[in-house]
Amino acid sequence: MTEAYKIVDHTYDVIVVGAGGAGLRATFGMAVKGLKTACITKVFPTRSHTVAAQGGISAALGNMSEDDWRWHFYDTVKGADWLGDQDAIEFMCREAVPAVIELEHYGVPFSRTEEGKIYQRPFGGMTTEYGEGPPAQRTAAAADRTGHAILHTLYQQSLKHEAEFFVEYFAIDLIMDDEGVCRGVMAWNLDDGTLHRFRARMVVLATGGYGRAYFSCTGAHTQTGDGNGMVLRAGLPMQDMEFIQFHPTGIYGAGCLITEGVRGEGGYLTNSEGEKFMERYAPHAKDLASRDVVSRSMTIEMNEGRGVGPNKDYVHLHIEHLSPEIINERLPGIAETARIFAGVDVTKEPIPVLPTVHYNMGGVPTNIHGEAILPRDGNPDAVIPGLMAIGEAACVSVHGANRLGSNSLLDIVVFGRAAADRCVALIDPNSNQPELPKGAGENSIARLDSRRHAKGGTSVAALRGEMQTTMQAHCAVFRTHDVMAEGQKKMTALWAKMDDMGVTDRSMVWNSDLMEALELDNMMLQAVVSLDGALNREESRGGHAREDFPDRDDETWMKHTLAWIDENGKTRIDYRPVHGNTLTDDVKAVPPKERVY
Ligand SMILES: Cc1cc2nc3c(=O)[nH]c(=O)nc-3n(C[C@H](O)[C@H](O)[C@H](O)COP(=O)(O)OP(=O)(O)OC[C@H]3O[C@@H](n4cnc5c(N)ncnc54)[C@H](O)[C@@H]3O)c2cc1C
Repeated sequence: MTEAYKIVDHTYDVIVVGAGGAGLRATFGMAVKGLKTACITKVFPTRSHTVAAQGGISAALGNMSEDDWRWHFYDTVKGADWLGDQDAIEFMCREAVPAVIELEHYGVPFSRTEEGKIYQRPFGGMTTEYGEGPPAQRTAAAADRTGHAILHTLYQQSLKHEAEFFVEYFAIDLIMDDEGVCRGVMAWNLDDGTLHRFRARMVVLATGGYGRAYFSCTGAHTQTGDGNGMVLRAGLPMQDMEFIQFHPTGIYGAGCLITEGVRGEGGYLTNSEGEKFMERYAPHAKDLASRDVVSRSMTIEMNEGRGVGPNKDYVHLHIEHLSPEIINERLPGIAETARIFAGVDVTKEPIPVLPTVHYNMGGVPTNIHGEAILPRDGNPDAVIPGLMAIGEAACVSVHGANRLGSNSLLDIVVFGRAAADRCVALIDPNSNQPELPKGAGENSIARLDSRRHAKGGTSVAALRGEMQTTMQAHCAVFRTHDVMAEGQKKMTALWAKMDDMGVTDRSMVWNSDLMEALELDNMMLQAVVSLDGALNREESRGGHAREDFPDRDDETWMKHTLAWIDENGKTRIDYRPVHGNTLTDDVKAVPPKERVY
């Protein structure tokens, strides 16, 4: 090691990394049952990206019209384009009803119906009668600030149950032992520059998505997928990383999200000819078809010259026809966002929008308890002891090839809770833990040290910008072999260029240049794995649309991609079977069929 760094040691039963909805739900679920739990987070808990979620959380409560969790299950299997694991989807959709009622009891201020029940709005891909009936009103909302309401409530619950927080601590790496057991995590206290080694029986990654690997994205700047990066660096695989969701309605230029709830409330899209073009692509669901379908339709309109504006590179989203009272009551945040970021008064004119990176379906492969898995000795679902992942960092997989809107806020609370329950079942509170392996964490400190003293000629921001524009241009809504192969060449060159990185600030206290360098290390791993996975998968399914392989190919490709990456940026790909079975006999598995809306 180039410099002696002082290390502060800690021991806990469980370490949760991340304080978004998933991390907080897990943290207090464990703390309340007596497990010594610490939650590490690089931003203050209520600044996690969950706070930005607008539209709502799905659950078949049936408050507005008849509903059934089995219909929700069917819609999710179909929305996932049959790549989701049906046992996990059953678990999530059934648990949804008690999970949302639990949130209500914790204090989430949901919008209300006349009778005082939780208000629910229609969302894309949510239907009734196993896809045969009208759209379902299934998405519970707190106006257009549902994530804000949920995150603040969960944080309050965590404080009530006296969970311990390490705020503005940046997790650097997992600590793994020779047997492949996860034994803890290394972290850097941004505020005073000290380094910390956390030993625990279980590390739960709840670090969110990696949308910032792209240039235009609705996510926060903190969405750099650090947990996924840590797992890849530990020599473990990611699952289904080629599946990246583009939300149809990011504000042109700024990328900020306009929730699907806008279309749920009656908003619609038009092209340069003023045509409601979704009627052509999805005659039944129209503007409420699922996200991949709407994003592709918009892209086709623009590619065929019917985009709006001088460069024909966006379309219009209308809500002028809604009454100002409805806008004010149900979509106040949208009106404000459109005014600030698009200069538009939504009561008078349409909002310019285009498809923007929004969600990562891929992540750490897990079972329904949140336990990370790795195929081993003929068992495709063998558990990695000591490691869990939940929320957007995980791939359970409930979203398969495409996530339905409002199923992610659901995923984070259902699996946050499941992970807490599992830890309570597995771990004896305050039991003695074996010593950490000799030299635990030294590799991570050496990496941090080399980045800290990096003296190359290219700034972190320049390297990041190149990665983002490469991913945006070469791994977008529509994909072909040639475009992606070109992207692969650029990423290989960029990987080599990382050696020329220059970091200007050498301090350890609030060194944001260094933190961004470590985030870039994480994003580069994920960008390469996503692009290689996309090039490898020669079919179209959900969010992955290949122009050269336009059809879904269940024969060859009904399987999860697993991708590893080595220190030279070379990926290795293998597969895991999709669970086509349900968990119980209460609902029938949905056999694959054509996915039309
Ligand atoms: C604009 C927007 C609107 C959305 N609207 C909806 C919606 O209406 N309905 C819906 O279902 N879904 C919605 N989604 C998706 C959903 O909000 C997210 O998928 C979900 O909130 C992710 O939660 P999470 O807990 O997994 O991660 P996050 O909320 O992203 O939290 C990640 C946490 O990890 C911590 N962290 C990360 N890296 C490190 C590190 N190195 N060290 C320490 N801590 C770290 C961060 O500090 C943070 O606390 C929306 C997403 C966006 C971007």
